[in-house]
Amino acid sequence: MKYRYCPQCGVEFIKDEQERFDNDQKNISCKKCPFVFYNNPSPAVSAIIRNNKGEVLLTKRGIEPFKGCWDLPGGFIDNGESPEEAIYRELEEELGIKKMNKIEMCDMFNVDYVNEGREDERIQVLTIVFEISIDESEISGANDDVEEYKFFNIKEFPEKIAFFEQKQFFKAYF
Ligand SMILES: [Zn+2]
Repeated sequence: MKYRYCPQCGVEFIKDEQERFDNDQKNISCKKCPFVFYNNPSPAVSAIIRNNKGEVLLTKRGIEPFKGCWDLPGGFIDNGESPEEAIYRELEEELGIKKMNKIEMCDMFNVDYVNEGREDERIQVLTIVFEISIDESEISGANDDVEEYKFFNIKEFPEKIAFFEQKQFFKAYF
């Protein structure tokens, strides 16, 4: 059972609701209060940043899941943030970027995300992708949950790309 208690009133969800949720993953209704738990994806943002040779910046993940694999810079949207605000914050945290010349939403994809490898914390993540233009001198280094960054020719991307769905996205997009 993934979710056992109502987060609003604390009553245990009835078995039938839990089983129905496990089977179709849609929602669980509480029988004691009006709360309905919807199993929606969590939104995140990713950035495609190219240098003047057209190479794409990838970051090496410093945390699970997919620690040590290459990823687009980005992260989860905080409560109250717009997607644009989230990508501004994430790029400053991870790469020290303070100024962007142009920001344009270009695509999105879902990711099956297992938080730090804990199967009980498997969620769907909706990743909103932006094409972002910066001066390369804006990048001050790799910080936060990122180990290093590197620009890659799109024909020579590394083998170890984080998230199966992101690999598929790269194939389709580049
Ligand atoms: Zn309740």
